Amino acid sequence: MSLVLEHATLLDGTGRDPQPESRVVVDDGRISRISRSNGPSAPKGARVIDCQGRTLMPGLLDAHVHLASLDLDPVAEVALAPAVIALRIARQIEETLQAGFTTVRDAGGLDWGFKDAVNRGLIRGPRLFISGPFLSQTGGHGDNQRPRTAREPFHAIPGLTTETILADGADEVRRAAREALRRGADQIKVMASGGAASPTDELDHVQYSVDELSAAVGVARGVGTYVLAHAYGPGAIQACLRAGVRSIEHGNFLDEETADQMLSQSDTYLVPTVITYELLSHLEAGNGWTADNVRKIRQALTGAYDALGLAYEKGLRIGSGSDVLADMQGEKGKEIACQARIMGAMNAIVAATRTNAQLLRMEQEVGTLEEGKRADLIVLDADPLANPDIFGQANHVRLVVLGGEVVKDLDGGTPATALPQQGRATVPSGG
Ligand SMILES: [Zn+2]
Repeated sequence: MSLVLEHATLLDGTGRDPQPESRVVVDDGRISRISRSNGPSAPKGARVIDCQGRTLMPGLLDAHVHLASLDLDPVAEVALAPAVIALRIARQIEETLQAGFTTVRDAGGLDWGFKDAVNRGLIRGPRLFISGPFLSQTGGHGDNQRPRTAREPFHAIPGLTTETILADGADEVRRAAREALRRGADQIKVMASGGAASPTDELDHVQYSVDELSAAVGVARGVGTYVLAHAYGPGAIQACLRAGVRSIEHGNFLDEETADQMLSQSDTYLVPTVITYELLSHLEAGNGWTADNVRKIRQALTGAYDALGLAYEKGLRIGSGSDVLADMQGEKGKEIACQARIMGAMNAIVAATRTNAQLLRMEQEVGTLEEGKRADLIVLDADPLANPDIFGQANHVRLVVLGGEVVKDLDGGTPATALPQQGRATVPSGG
């Protein structure tokens, strides 16, 4: 049966002006026709949804999530019962789709099993691109061992909680990258600089060497994928660029020289994650979140908007990531409002739709509303160009369609608890 969305204000994700009184027809999971609503009447027998006064746009993409993050303190996280961990992660996946994100890239931590559960229709989630375990040097951003002690190492719960493979030297990195791929990673995540949540390092520390990063890139390219790297400062970002890392995450201390280097490479993206610093900077120390974490987060926030402004001014390819952790999982959409402050709402929306789709190499399939593309779309009850804050409030996302299937309908009473139909199991999520 066809699905027809009528009388919508169409924001197609390409950056062009909204088109009033639009009609989008969906057949067999794809957009078959886009026209004006005053044209010939909708196909017979179709389900028609009136979108009068509403904005219809592509489903959102978030290029930097951590859907397995339940607690800022990794020790508290692994102390939870395994069943509780699994069910809470499942809920985070479902709520991400309900918030309007139809495709997300997990930037480390989410196990392949959750992607399999989505593909099997056990839970309803967005298309998932997972990175599996982080690759980190000893004492690096992914090393959760207690600092300055020689006690037993930190143990994640395999298949459930966020795991790091500690790898030093090109050979170990190569092996770790192959291991991540073996476990189902769609792309490889490396820690190239210090980070705010890690116990041993500083933000401006350069971690992996060019040699080590090149080893990961070589493994990734061998199977047709790429590396994304956590990197804050010029030294770390430049090492990534020399090694061929495609996706630079955070980049809070990007400088002009480094931005020019990024610009000179043909297929490099910056994925700012401003909202996570905004949210975490309000936290005081406690519950496993240390005074050091507080200091480093506030330091990272000072660079976040300047780096984004520089990247925008230079014309870098800017994606959109939230990097929200633990109980902030519901705030993913607020990244768009953060970016809008610097780039304007339209460019921030394009970053979270078309550009993120290019970053994920899914631009032929999703990211814009065009005839022939997969029908991943959302309907909003307010104008996101006038008020991009609405992306942070799931109740403004009235309708979510994933691959032609209505998975949320706040006005039509679609049973939110119904399992997706069997056919969903054959829809590849994650390319
Ligand atoms: Zn992250």
